[in-house]
Amino acid sequence: MVQQASRLFPTYARFPITLVRGEGSRLWDDQGKEYIDLMSGLAVANLGHVPAPVKEKLVAQLDQLWHVSNLFHIPNQEKLAKLLTDNSCADAVFFCSTGAEANEAAIKLARRYAQKVLGEDRHEIITFHQSFHGRTLATLTATGQEKVQEGFHPLPAGFSYATFNDIESVKNLINDRTCAVMIEMVQAEGGVITADPAFIQQLAELCKEKNLLLIVDEIQTGMGRTGKLFAYEHYGIEPDIFTMAKGLGSGFPIGAMLGKAKLAPAFSAGSHGSTFGGTPIAMAAAIATVEYMLSDKIADRASELGEWTLNLLNEKLGTNPLVEQIRSKGLLIGIVCKQPVAEIISEIHAAGVLVVSAGPQVIRLLPSLTISKEDLQQGLDVVCDILASK
Ligand code: PLP
Repeated sequence: MVQQASRLFPTYARFPITLVRGEGSRLWDDQGKEYIDLMSGLAVANLGHVPAPVKEKLVAQLDQLWHVSNLFHIPNQEKLAKLLTDNSCADAVFFCSTGAEANEAAIKLARRYAQKVLGEDRHEIITFHQSFHGRTLATLTATGQEKVQEGFHPLPAGFSYATFNDIESVKNLINDRTCAVMIEMVQAEGGVITADPAFIQQLAELCKEKNLLLIVDEIQTGMGRTGKLFAYEHYGIEPDIFTMAKGLGSGFPIGAMLGKAKLAPAFSAGSHGSTFGGTPIAMAAAIATVEYMLSDKIADRASELGEWTLNLLNEKLGTNPLVEQIRSKGLLIGIVCKQPVAEIISEIHAAGVLVVSAGPQVIRLLPSLTISKEDLQQGLDVVCDILASK
């Protein structure tokens, strides 16, 4: 077969698989081959593919109204904002369409609040090495990875990078211009590295003491993935701002930036916006997703299945010489290997199981939170058997 030159910009290294249909935790390619999905479109299909309660609401909305300008009231924005704030520490929500856009909104809100309330010079944001916050100019600058920033200089000013889980490194970066600290509770893209509880406690106290806003990026960890609706709940803290996207619409594009009531007046009409943010179709998908997550206690299920998975992986891989460590929080799991994993991942795919890496040496598992134990066991057996055969 002659390969035609692609008309797409080459921004992705794509696996040689074309997926055409999904149902629950199963996917099918254009050759009819069936896969067990242990990556959920990178933590997007948290309720599995084409979940029935979400589909029903989405189809009903498609028959009614697709888009309304944000110059009008959109009642389902209020409904979703109530659902999210009733179930989190936040009081107000801004809707957008992607994770990076949610983090942009967080950065803009933090700066505007700080400059209005704390003083004109307050604009610097401390983030962390190995973090990932997105690919727009501000969010790739917030991202503490040079490879993400390469070729895009000059970067926006006002970002510095501390060492994850090291409170002294944060203290060393604070100055008179600092306004916020932005952090993931689990550095997912960075290799599935979980924040230490003591570090997060100290960080929250430090932010209070120095009058800094604490921004938590829940884009990969949110919507039940780690065994709580939001990962910050594991730590007994309340961020001033947090962001979410991926799992919020079960695959329909939506992002959200949530914050405490005191921050709301920092934005005014025209200070921020997004044409598609909060559009009726996105609201229908997200309301159905959140209602399903809450009514079926999906986060608790993720917690139980996550523990079961960790025990199984420790049992099966504990003595595997290739495996250095297994790291996890709920159903966000990293198998840390002593060698690059790209070829191993190709073999796992060929055997009918979809997984993804998190950096060169970590196999990342992100099964849907509704996956059956049988499917999960079957998928994990394939991963462990291939690792055992090396
Ligand atoms: N923040 C985190 C923690 C992420 O994992 C991602 C995406 O992987 C983003 C931000 C960016 O989200 P998006 O790709 O929707 O812009």
